[in-house]
Amino acid sequence: MPIFQRGVGDMVLLEPLSENSFIQNLKNRFDHDEIYTYIGTVVISINPYQSLPIYTADKVEEYRNRNFYELNPHIYALADEAYRSLRDQDKDQCILITGESGAGKTEASKLVMSYVAAVCGKGQEVNKVKEQLLQSNPVLEAFGNAKTVRNDNSSRFGKYMDIEFDFKGDPLGGVISNYLLEKSRVVKQPRGERNFHIFYQLLSGASDDLLKRLKLERDVSKYNYLSLDSAVVSDLDDGANFRIIMDAMKTVCFMDNEVQSVLELVAAVMKLGNIEFKSESRVNGFDESRVEDNNGLYTHHFTVIQEICELLGIEQIVLERAFSSRTLEAKQEKVSTTLNVAQAYYARDALAKNLYSRLFSWLVTRINESIKVHWLFSKKVMGVLDIYGFEIFENNSFEQFIINYCNEKLQQIFIDLTLHEEQEEYIREGIEWKNIEYFNNAVICDLIENNNKGILAMLDDECLRPGTVTDETFLDKLNTVCAGHHHFESRHCTNSQFLTDHTLPHNCFRIQHYAGKVLYCVEGFVDKNNDLLYRDLSQAMYKARHPLIKLLFPEGDPSKMNLKRPPTAGFQFRASVGTLMKNLQTKNPNYIRCIKPNDKKAARIFTETLVRHQVRYLGLMENVRVRRAGYAFRQLYKPCLERYKMLCQQTWPHWRGPAREGVEMLLNSLQVPKEEFCYGCSKIFIRNPKTLFALEKKRREC
Ligand code: ADP
Ligand code: MG
Repeated sequence: MPIFQRGVGDMVLLEPLSENSFIQNLKNRFDHDEIYTYIGTVVISINPYQSLPIYTADKVEEYRNRNFYELNPHIYALADEAYRSLRDQDKDQCILITGESGAGKTEASKLVMSYVAAVCGKGQEVNKVKEQLLQSNPVLEAFGNAKTVRNDNSSRFGKYMDIEFDFKGDPLGGVISNYLLEKSRVVKQPRGERNFHIFYQLLSGASDDLLKRLKLERDVSKYNYLSLDSAVVSDLDDGANFRIIMDAMKTVCFMDNEVQSVLELVAAVMKLGNIEFKSESRVNGFDESRVEDNNGLYTHHFTVIQEICELLGIEQIVLERAFSSRTLEAKQEKVSTTLNVAQAYYARDALAKNLYSRLFSWLVTRINESIKVHWLFSKKVMGVLDIYGFEIFENNSFEQFIINYCNEKLQQIFIDLTLHEEQEEYIREGIEWKNIEYFNNAVICDLIENNNKGILAMLDDECLRPGTVTDETFLDKLNTVCAGHHHFESRHCTNSQFLTDHTLPHNCFRIQHYAGKVLYCVEGFVDKNNDLLYRDLSQAMYKARHPLIKLLFPEGDPSKMNLKRPPTAGFQFRASVGTLMKNLQTKNPNYIRCIKPNDKKAARIFTETLVRHQVRYLGLMENVRVRRAGYAFRQLYKPCLERYKMLCQQTWPHWRGPAREGVEMLLNSLQVPKEEFCYGCSKIFIRNPKTLFALEKKRREC
């Protein structure tokens, strides 16, 4: 039976159900290029690592306006269901895409967006809006994505996009929120990885004339910040992509001078990495850093700092001074101290990281200005969330900690809405129900985000505390406060489940995340959380004649001197994740759970152990058990009666009694077996999707 060979499309119908049969079913389907499988309304998507002919215009037509269960599982079915429910039932939607790095989240988000763009609205104005929404993707990917070991096009920022529609379902515009760009990548990349795409694209794709204007040389090896060992990625054509990005920026309404400004900043960041410092002894015995005059290295006979200052319109002496000394303000007194060479390099890298990440945030703001909806009438919203997936590396730092925290929160929402909420609904509706056990990761979220004793709060405490603060004092604090927590371990402190693990390095702590154990090295936590830029540098940037750079460093305005410290990176992230979660909870969720089939980025390889691990931590077995024990389909009595009343003489055309009795009459007359449905207080519950297909089929034949 060919259907069976290709596996079962909805795991709810899989017989017998076990973890092995679940994985075998995924494998059967994957081997036949069926990368999508349902668990009820949740879509599992396995990255095929090859382009499949399943995203054509014909496919879009096939799935358009069809009921979810009617056709072969497809991401288009989910997109269509979400869009129709937004348009016809006025329900705001969100599409939540989760999975680890390289599992296919970003591609899935683009498929959803392009499907919705294809089926919604028509006309010149509407098409312009669609084009702008879609073209914001390549722009943000150029600046926010990079080649990593796991993914040649890995998103190094989180993105949530609200697409807004009018009452007819025509797109009006949108709003993008971005979450914490991994800015440490600007100055240093792990082995085998690259800096953000835009640097390579610019060097490879810009005309000679443009490069000259930006004072750049084409050769990647000239720039310290750009990694060489993986500068060329076989699947990426940097030069061609540069032209695509330039066109996309035009579509999103960037003016020529804005594009020029952006590229000038990109060039300046790249060049900052080439500034070298040397030590100069001073009379008082202190060493002071000086910018090295590396004239000979540069073909234009300018020093690199001169070129940066020209690009940005900054007095050279101002920037040089900001790299050699630092003003501290204490009790309204200003004290100037000199920077040694190590501090000067630190300041240089901090400037490069800040400049780039602020440029990135500005790009998002600027795109939002273009796609913003100007009308005030009520709108319907579809949110698409594509956020970095769970990361376990050999060396995990603050960035992984933040990323994994965000994934814990998303898992929480998933549990809340699909497992918890589903079971609660049966209880509310008075349907007999036996609870299904699942792991609730609320306890891990609490370990990280608790206001008093959470790891982030303790990191903030440490960063704001006077006196000597180091990564080690932070770890000491964790060791005291988190001792005994089931999900926390370090060399000096054990949780109650395990013996003290002497193999753990001294400067690390380990968290048992829902998706696995991760060892974090505390080195850099305090610094990255503080995210401080010496005020002398922000003031130097504010003094620039370059309009954009001035805008990016408002705190450098001496007339608006603000002694209050800016919020820490961790605090800001926690707050923005909190806002995001609240926003998501107001919407009807649609889930895409992405799975990475192998570690080789290769087509046709299905590594069972890898898939099994993901199936486990994504909680897919629990998901399918809850779904099977329960009812695949539910609907309020009235709309259900409206939809199917033509199938029964007694209910057609008008049923005068209570809707519930009408539905009873209907199901009885159709002789649907008793065990197939159950009457809740306000809704009818139907167990098997097949029953629903049968009803739909009858309706079409009517
Ligand atoms: P993530 O965002 O989860 O880290 P991506 O969406 O960037 O992962 O996917 C990684 C790579 O896998 C993509 O660059 C693409 O080559 C491939 N890929 C992902 N999804 C698909 C798909 N549906 N069809 C073909 N290739 C895909
Ligand atoms: Mg991605």
